[in-house]
Amino acid sequence: MEKIQMLIDGAWVGSENEQWIDVINPATGELITQIVRGNEEHADRAVQTARKALKSKEWKSFKPFERGQFLQETARYIRANAEALAELESLDIGKPSAQAKADIEAAARYFEFYSGLADKVFGDTIPIEEDLLNVTVMDPIGVTLHIVPWNYPIQITARSVAAAIATGNVVIVKSSEDTPLTTNFLAKWFHEKLPKGVFQHLTGYGAEIGSALTSHPGVNQITFTGSVPTGIAVMKSAANNVVPVTLELGGKSPNVVFKDADLDRAVPAIVNSIVQNAGQTCSAGSRLLVDETIADELIEKLVEKFKHLKVGPPANHAEVGPIINEKQYKRILEILGTIDKQAKILVGGEAVQVEGYENGFYIRPTIIEASNHNNSFVQEEIFGPVLSVVRFTDVEEAIELANATDYGLVAGVWTKDIDVAHYVASRIESGQVFINSYGAAGGVQMPFGGYKKSGIGREKSHLAVQNYIQIKNIAIQVQL
Ligand code: NAD
Repeated sequence: MEKIQMLIDGAWVGSENEQWIDVINPATGELITQIVRGNEEHADRAVQTARKALKSKEWKSFKPFERGQFLQETARYIRANAEALAELESLDIGKPSAQAKADIEAAARYFEFYSGLADKVFGDTIPIEEDLLNVTVMDPIGVTLHIVPWNYPIQITARSVAAAIATGNVVIVKSSEDTPLTTNFLAKWFHEKLPKGVFQHLTGYGAEIGSALTSHPGVNQITFTGSVPTGIAVMKSAANNVVPVTLELGGKSPNVVFKDADLDRAVPAIVNSIVQNAGQTCSAGSRLLVDETIADELIEKLVEKFKHLKVGPPANHAEVGPIINEKQYKRILEILGTIDKQAKILVGGEAVQVEGYENGFYIRPTIIEASNHNNSFVQEEIFGPVLSVVRFTDVEEAIELANATDYGLVAGVWTKDIDVAHYVASRIESGQVFINSYGAAGGVQMPFGGYKKSGIGREKSHLAVQNYIQIKNIAIQVQL
């Protein structure tokens, strides 16, 4: 595959003089392509260009409904190229092709959803006194920076970029060093269709071009999706310029299963919530909290399912793909290797050798019964196909355990008792609570974000446009 160039100032940047970073296929361990190792100078050039584009006549004259039409067109373009995009996403991350296809459809849905909002972001008229007309105007916030992780590149890029363009901003995307392919594909489309500098795509290491961008005084807003430590670093550098951040960080989300739950419904949802994308999902259902009276039955069903999950590359039609890179793979195996003796690995807990793909990074889906909810593997985000199980005795204990981590992104509650469902849902500290389900394909219309260390602000839904506007109050004193 040809090398991936950056899109800066309406031109493709990436000459032989540049430094390059290898992009590896996690399913095979082989080189896919290379990306430019972007630096401070590239970051500065992109921000200067974005500032010019923001003020440019061409972009200012793009009417809100025309921005909406363009986003619709983008959704259609994504669907028309769904096959090719899904292949790229599978190649980059190793995810099964059905999951990659679902990601492409979710990306199209984001553009579609925000297209409809582009000309419906209204201000208010506020009654104050006679002959004082007071109105609020929703201005774009300006140069928006989108820092994207490797687990769902096209979905995560689409969700914030669509909202930012709908509201008239200009966009700089810094994709993960592991997964540049689908964003590069979209960059070619934006390059062709939008005024120069409205959309720019940068690549490179987070500690280099990433931090050069987050500390740049020309950036007006940052949407960061990634790990908690990086989120904190991003927030600190944004603070120096008094720039708002939307942070979508990690999770350790529970499925809470009560004794009257319909296990036939719960089991497939619990399995999917932790093995989807090989568990490399911020909202993965990585903790199972279960009533002690049904725990043995539920665990037995889950172990049986886990044993039969097919692990391997997309080419083998596997259900569980590889871990993204060698570093993450080794990290997960190290955690599995240090499981406390009192805890019990019920299934998995080891690497998988896939014939013909010996250099891929495969881990067997794992269930560990914890001795205690304070076990480190119950508390910390593992970001792999590893489910921790803890038993509870009553509703109050279930709530206490559900809330007993630093995170609060998503929770699933499984019960047929409507009182229990509401009682628990209203007490769980988490941005989303699902009753008798877990997640919703894309969930484009639902606000998404974290309590506690899972983040700040909300993405998805109509509420996310708030991240990309600033409110100006205009008061007109009328006098004849
Ligand atoms: P990461 O924090 O290592 O990197 C995320 C992005 O930040 C990458 O593009 C990286 O290059 C960049 N980056 C790294 N250091 C930086 C710095 N100092 N300044 C600016 N940018 C920097 O995360 P990751 O390993 O790519 O992704 C996994 C993490 O992301 C997990 O913790 C997961 O829970 C989280 N995540 C959250 C959501 C969500 O919506 N809440 C979604 C997906 C992933």
